[in-house]
Amino acid sequence: MIPVFDGHNDFLLRVWMHGASRSELVEGTAGGGHMDIGRMRDGGFAGGLFAIFVPSPMEIPFAEVQEIMTAPPYDIPLPQEIDHIAALPAAMSMAGHLVAMCREWPDEFALCLSVHDIEAAMASGRIACVMHMEGVEAIDPDLDALYLFHSMGLRSLGPVWSRTNVFGHGVPFRFPGSPDTGPGLTESGKRLVRACNDLKIAIDLSHITEQGMDDVAATSNAPLIASHSNAHAICQSPRNLTDRQLDMIRDSGGIVGLNYATMFLREDGSLNPDTGWDIMLRHLDHLIEKLGEDHVGLGSDFDGANIPECLGDVSGLPDLLEAMASHGYDAPLIEKLAHRNWLSVLRKTWGE
Ligand SMILES: [Zn+2]
Repeated sequence: MIPVFDGHNDFLLRVWMHGASRSELVEGTAGGGHMDIGRMRDGGFAGGLFAIFVPSPMEIPFAEVQEIMTAPPYDIPLPQEIDHIAALPAAMSMAGHLVAMCREWPDEFALCLSVHDIEAAMASGRIACVMHMEGVEAIDPDLDALYLFHSMGLRSLGPVWSRTNVFGHGVPFRFPGSPDTGPGLTESGKRLVRACNDLKIAIDLSHITEQGMDDVAATSNAPLIASHSNAHAICQSPRNLTDRQLDMIRDSGGIVGLNYATMFLREDGSLNPDTGWDIMLRHLDHLIEKLGEDHVGLGSDFDGANIPECLGDVSGLPDLLEAMASHGYDAPLIEKLAHRNWLSVLRKTWGE
């Protein structure tokens, strides 16, 4: 089985929202979701970026949002901003869950601070966990909390989730639409990017506006990374990347992780689990054509999105790799897409 190192999951959010016992989620007795130890093992899931994400209080009930997204066109207003003090407890709790998981199940999970750590975890059969933050409301403009989270193990962050914060602006949940929806980084955002460069924290551009990506490209000395985004040429969601953006990522030596969310895959932009392998392969073909085969990876969005029924959950990863093989990708290419490219871009980013 070819191991998969994945660019984005929301497992920590599901653990945090569950509230009760962490072990019910880790060991899977609670059921539901896309991930637990058993299903990760079945899928050959070797590790990935585990996101800390602070959700907004629901202004529109989640079921209603999902209903709207099944019938494009749609344009859902972005949630209100969350201030630093409000975001901090949830972010601390999710960081705590990740660190605790790696201590409580030491034969299953390893907190990884480097590609060396990831490779050691993979070699010893443990799931390699990298701490990532999606939208950094939990970090103050003075960046004190950035240093604190870095010391806890944070090695990757996206300055914004879609909602605006003090660092910048993100794209709304709208279809169809362009990622060019407004301003980019603020002055604090540019300081954040420079501090991430100094600390060797990866900067993730999924969710940021097109202007925001231009601002990061002009400020950062690191490869441009979009951990869980697809090709705008195929699915015209603002969450996807235009060919111009893909060119920038290629020129920086960065990576794009394929997002399995049906609304970011399908040409009609609809949230619809009745979605097959074909459209996932078309996105991969396009990303490989634009970026080259060394700069494309996977970015599942497990536990954070509606994904194709044929994939089901993390245990379906071997079927995705099988679909790639049937599509004509050879074994070396599948290995690159499955984990090698992520490791090489992170190695460059982290200065190893
Ligand atoms: Zn996301």
